[in-house]
Amino acid sequence: MLDIVLDKLNGHATEGKVCKIHINVGDEIKLGDKICDIEGKKGSSTFNSNFSGIIESIEIGEGDTVRLGDVVAKIEGVEAAVTSEKTEQTKEVGGFNYFSSIMKPRKEEIECDIAILGGGPGGYVAAIQGAKLGAKVVLIEKENLGGTCLNRGCIPTKTLVRSAEVYENLLKAEDFGLYADNVSVNMRKVIARKDNVVDELRGGIGYILEKHGIRVIKAEGRLLDTKTLFAKEGNREITIKAKDIILATGSKAIKLPISGADSKNVITSDEALTMDTLPKKMIIIGGGIIGMEFAFIYSKFGVDVYVVEYFNSILANLDEDVIAEITAAARDNGIKLFTGSKVEEIIDGADNQSIVVFTKDGEKKYISADKVLMAVGRTPVFEGLDIEKLGIKSLENKKGIAVNEKLQTTVENIYAIGDLTNIIQLAHIASHQGVVAVKNIMGKELSMDYTVVPSAIFTHPEIATVGISEKDAEKQGLEIEVGKFPFAANGKALTYGERAGFVKLIKEKNTDIVLGGAVIGPHATDLIAEIALAVKNKLKIDQITETIHAHPTTAEAIHEGALALEGGSLHFVN
Ligand code: NAD
Repeated sequence: MLDIVLDKLNGHATEGKVCKIHINVGDEIKLGDKICDIEGKKGSSTFNSNFSGIIESIEIGEGDTVRLGDVVAKIEGVEAAVTSEKTEQTKEVGGFNYFSSIMKPRKEEIECDIAILGGGPGGYVAAIQGAKLGAKVVLIEKENLGGTCLNRGCIPTKTLVRSAEVYENLLKAEDFGLYADNVSVNMRKVIARKDNVVDELRGGIGYILEKHGIRVIKAEGRLLDTKTLFAKEGNREITIKAKDIILATGSKAIKLPISGADSKNVITSDEALTMDTLPKKMIIIGGGIIGMEFAFIYSKFGVDVYVVEYFNSILANLDEDVIAEITAAARDNGIKLFTGSKVEEIIDGADNQSIVVFTKDGEKKYISADKVLMAVGRTPVFEGLDIEKLGIKSLENKKGIAVNEKLQTTVENIYAIGDLTNIIQLAHIASHQGVVAVKNIMGKELSMDYTVVPSAIFTHPEIATVGISEKDAEKQGLEIEVGKFPFAANGKALTYGERAGFVKLIKEKNTDIVLGGAVIGPHATDLIAEIALAVKNKLKIDQITETIHAHPTTAEAIHEGALALEGGSLHFVN
């Protein structure tokens, strides 16, 4: 590892204040790339790298005072440390000849206990868990750490949700006795804020991995045999020998196999999260979770949003009462919903518009818009891994890798976790699978249990569910009772100006055991944790009613929902 040393400042300055750091741990940087901006007495200057390679650690922080000679960062995997004045020379650093290293690839062999392919919430959590249990872990990731969740999914979407929410609150400031003039959206800044949040969290993951002594290889990895992986990082060819391997390569957004799907106005959630201008009108194909989260974000930003959904309702897996509530909220937000509608084709129209052609009740319909967001599902990514050659079985239609309850594939020492298994495509499932897989590798006997998985949907109002739904209970022929409490009767919800939605608790009729629940309303995605705890631990309704809930909180709605199953709520006439 080499030090990147501050060797130049503006004019004759010898010290300055770091105002912006352009690198993150794990970044691959090239000669001349920006390291940081430094404000000195004679103005600000940018300090550029003299090296190429992977940033292993950052030794400064924004706001720090730095002096010439200070170590700014540490770098590994250097390719060419040739400064403009030294182009004709080779440079020896630490006994290594960089110039010759450009010509000859460096070969490296690593032995480890667990090698993990993919650094998303499945892979990186598995890596940390493995290191905590004393395993020597290598993590291979070709892009940024954090996977879909951090870079193109959960976190970026939620920062947009938050910006949309703040904007909406400013627009209705008068309702709160406040005045805000000239409120407008600057999408470039909204996206920049999103990038900052993502950068900070990404840096955090790199830091934690480093502190656990986990070797992160920033390259595309492939399987050579059931105990060997290969990755080319810069000019370094790395062979990784591992006792056990975890595959965690995630999923990607799919597009419908229809004419016009690749037209330039058609985007997926990946592009939506970098789009720094707002279209006037947008058609969202798919009224599932991704489609509806974006529908609320864009409609709050003032975009004219149309959702075209194949099923007869949006978010069709939910119970009917929850669907009715979110459908009403979508309409109140100006979102136009076309359900029972199958998209057949997308045609390029005049004025840079795209026309979405769909069939509803046997009739062809046409809507045009300047952007079409396709949100019709995600598919596991494992092409190029040659899994069949090694005896690893995929699921039917190659929609994932088959695993047993211990997360082993059909090859004993190779595990698969996360979206790749296509069991439930959620970040928290991937992370939990990562922990279970690693503990099994380390000698425990754990099985995955998917019966108590909270789901969180960031529409407005938010929706969260856990355990069984009324629909599930009916399918399973269970005898249940349902207790509900509306947020319109909850003090805290009214202080927020949020009166829509309810809490619903489902108990087994004979045993009183809580089997599931749904929350639609303020803080739903946080409140679901209490119901998840109850379902997981088979608590009875009276164990919730006998628990004192703080006042005034939205959590009281759960208490009241439980009371509804025990002779009636106190603050609502059931
Ligand atoms: P999804 O499967 O939830 O929804 C896709 C929707 O597209 C479905 O309702 C389907 O009926 C519709 N559709 C498919 N073909 C169509 C056609 N020809 N015409 C009209 N409609 C059509 O998929 P998604 O919303 O893309 O999400 C992908 C995955 O990511 C899901 O598993 C989801 O759970 C997960 N995810 C979760 C969260 C969260 O938990 N907050 C957020 C984002 C994504």
